[in-house]
Amino acid sequence: MSDKYDAIIIGAGILGAPIGFELAKKGWKTLNVDTLPAAGYGSTSNSCAHIRLHYSTYDGAAIAYEGYHYWKDWENYLGVEDERGLAKFVDSGCVLFKSELNNYLKPLCENFDKMGIKWEDWDAETLGKKIAILDPHSFWPVRRPDDPGFGEPSSELIAGAIFYKDGGYINDPQLSTHNVQRAAEAKGAGFRFNSKVVEIRRDGDRVVGVTLENGDAIDAPVVVNVAGPHSYIVNRMAGVEKGMNIKTRALKHEVCHVPAPEGFDFGKHGSITNDSDIGCYYRPVSRDHMLIGSVDPECDEHEWVDPDDYDKNFTEQWTVQVMRLAQRMPGLKIPNQAKGVVDLYDVSDDWIPIYDKSDLGGFYMAVGTSGNQYKNGPVVGAMMAELIERCEQGLDHDAEPLQFTMKYTGLTINAGFYSRLREINPDSSFSVVG
Ligand SMILES: Cc1cc2nc3c(=O)[nH]c(=O)nc-3n(C[C@H](O)[C@H](O)[C@H](O)COP(=O)(O)OP(=O)(O)OC[C@H]3O[C@@H](n4cnc5c(N)ncnc54)[C@H](O)[C@@H]3O)c2cc1C
Repeated sequence: MSDKYDAIIIGAGILGAPIGFELAKKGWKTLNVDTLPAAGYGSTSNSCAHIRLHYSTYDGAAIAYEGYHYWKDWENYLGVEDERGLAKFVDSGCVLFKSELNNYLKPLCENFDKMGIKWEDWDAETLGKKIAILDPHSFWPVRRPDDPGFGEPSSELIAGAIFYKDGGYINDPQLSTHNVQRAAEAKGAGFRFNSKVVEIRRDGDRVVGVTLENGDAIDAPVVVNVAGPHSYIVNRMAGVEKGMNIKTRALKHEVCHVPAPEGFDFGKHGSITNDSDIGCYYRPVSRDHMLIGSVDPECDEHEWVDPDDYDKNFTEQWTVQVMRLAQRMPGLKIPNQAKGVVDLYDVSDDWIPIYDKSDLGGFYMAVGTSGNQYKNGPVVGAMMAELIERCEQGLDHDAEPLQFTMKYTGLTINAGFYSRLREINPDSSFSVVG
């Protein structure tokens, strides 16, 4: 059996589905192919789905600011109804702790000012008043629980924090991807599930299609790798990894779901919080529950894994994160039973994604999302569709990178920022912060 499309997109997560949607809007006949049974069942389903603007680089923050507008305008962006309902944006705002690690947020605030993003400067006392369950003392440097000094606050207060209101989280990341699938289908896009790509076929220096595990061959002059933590496997299948200066690999991460301290409505008064002073991020899940993740402090080892063969159980990583937050929230109880998620980031060498063409004609990639690109899925869909269309029309993106003007903010970014050929970006946080 042989099928023909204008473009095959490998993966139907929050990046793959919008690429299908945007190409279909341009009139392309597209097919998203995914091993799993439904859209957004890969790492997207376990995303904390933070919609935040704080990134270490200007381009990182600019694209996230654009992404924020897509989520605020979700219904219009989709232009269709979904029989399962629409995912919701919860408007919680964001709090970021100042620390030595982030240069007391000076570069970030300069970028925010350039983009016209409003922020408030909070000293430790203000933070303690606004979020009464937080101990405003500094615990820096971030330590392992068995280190002497763990849990002992310094006599100093934290250096302060900033708050901005243009941020929040999506209540159901899998549903949001299903929403995009329905929007794409309304424009004629196709989705094929339970179908694993096992071969990328080429003819000379151009891609010509893919072969599935069941032997089906699907032909297309354009194939896009949006395989999340499996991205490096698909790049190797296509034979393009050697031509990349920046590569990707899968990193295991655990997110803890715990009851919030009693007597405080965390759902109402809590925000997305990036607390680099203790190496954690946290946010409300509901009125009395919260989640906690790691911001990859230096003292923690990275657990690089084979995405098809890794331990999906909670480990010490879970306990360490909850104990770290218990320093900041003395009222936090540490449950005996670990709850939350264990999943993978698709991490690039500098924790900045690769949104690019490849050395194989017609083969593109949106990979290396490094635990922080859920929020950007819809923008990346638009940028990749333009990149693919322009390259197929003859643009030499490696020599003259696409300049992409974003529809909500009007900001223009140099898509070459995300090139596979770049040198490691020294301005990155080299962590999930991006
Ligand atoms: C625990 C956790 C918390 C996170 N928190 C946030 C956050 O708060 N904010 C944020 O912005 N980002 C966050 N992220 C990152 C974000 O979720 C990802 O960047 C994003 O979901 C990646 O989407 P994707 O479509 O590229 O990948 P995925 O959702 O992983 O989709 C890739 C798809 O490709 C399919 N696939 C792979 N190989 C093949 C093959 N050979 N054939 C067919 N199909 C294949 C897979 O089945 C999968 O469905 C988090 C990630 C994790 C794991």
